[in-house]
This record gives sequence, C-alpha cells and structure tokens, in this order.
Amino acid sequence: MTPLVDAYVGLGSNLDDPADQVRRALDELDSLPLTRCLAASRLYASRPVGPQDQPDFINAVAHLRTRLSPLALLDQLQALEQRHRRVRQRHWGPRTLDLDLLLYGNETLTLPRLQVPHREMASRAFVLLPLAELAPQLQLPDGRRIVDLTGTLATTGEVEVLPDNAN
Ligand code: ATP
Ligand code: CA
Ligand code: CA
Repeated sequence: MTPLVDAYVGLGSNLDDPADQVRRALDELDSLPLTRCLAASRLYASRPVGPQDQPDFINAVAHLRTRLSPLALLDQLQALEQRHRRVRQRHWGPRTLDLDLLLYGNETLTLPRLQVPHREMASRAFVLLPLAELAPQLQLPDGRRIVDLTGTLATTGEVEVLPDNAN
C-alpha cells in the first residue's frame, strides 16, 4: 500500500462566488479517496496573475494527508475542477476553481503532466502567505523554508486575508 504522504494544494477561484467555490472545494478535498484534509488556511484575496481584465482571486492552501500517488491525486484534483464546471479558455484566464499540487512529501517530480514542487510557488505571494500560515517551517525539497521564501517576495501588498464574514 502507498504510504501516507503530506501534500499541499493551492486553491484559487475568481468566478461564480469565488469564496464559496473555495470553501466547498476545501470540504470536497477532505472527501477524496484515501485522503484527509488536516488543515486549511484562511481565505486570501489577490490580484490576478497575467491578464488584469478579470475579477480578483480568492486563494487558500490545504494540507492533505493521502495514500494517493502523485498522478492519482492530480487526477482527483482535475476531476474536482471539472465538477466546479471549470472551462479552460485562455491561459491564466478567469476560472471557477484552480487546484495546484504544490508539494507532495519531499518529492521532486518532472513529468509531462505534473511538476512538483509547483514551478511558480516560490515566487507567488498568494501561495506562500497561506502556506506560511499552515507550515512556516516547511521546507521545499531543495531545503528552502517557506518562511524564508515569504521574505524574498517583491511585494505582498496585493494579497490580503479576507475578513471572516466576507463572501
Ligand atoms: P499555473 O500552473 O501557472 O498556476 P494554471 O494553474 O492556470 O497555471 P492550468 O491550466 O490549471 O494552469 O494547468 C495546466 C497543466 O499544468 C495541467 O493540465 C497539469 O497537467 C499541469 N501541471 C503540471 N504541474 C502541476 C501541478 N503541480 N499541479 C497542477 N497541475 C500541474
Ligand atoms: Ca494555478
Ligand atoms: Ca492549475
């Protein structure tokens, strides 16, 4: 049997009540086969990456413990995106739900469908800030700590914790 692995997933949405999309997805992650969601960050609001003519994003990070293999977990994440009726239009365009596998244990994977750690995570405030909330001392496979990476961000001003009662 595949051993238990700690994995971190980044969630993002900027369409159709984004905060609700993200909250529902956090529940759904806990219901994936062979997987538990151990912790979730607060929700964050961020400006879009790439095209700016689209709504702001809501982001969060989830800490999963899973027996799914990396590709089986990616399959599950993509199926969950589809259940949220994600339509792929332009690259980095608006979407109801984006689920990126940020970290899978201490593994480094370079497969056609899957690169882990997620190749942009070390430079994205909307990933690092929620991840630092859950696991500041966590290290990437190359030894860099999340808390140290947050210190290297050019700007964090465009990423803010969403107030509790906001939708
Ligand atoms: P970005 O990857 O810059 O955040 P994106 O999330 O908009 O952009 P998508 O269109 O969601 O990109 O994904 C494109 C492809 O990336 C997916 O089909 C998937 O196979 C591949 N991919 C590679 N590594 C990962 C990963 N760590 N997590 C999720 N998808 C990945
Ligand atoms: Ca993404
Ligand atoms: Ca993605």
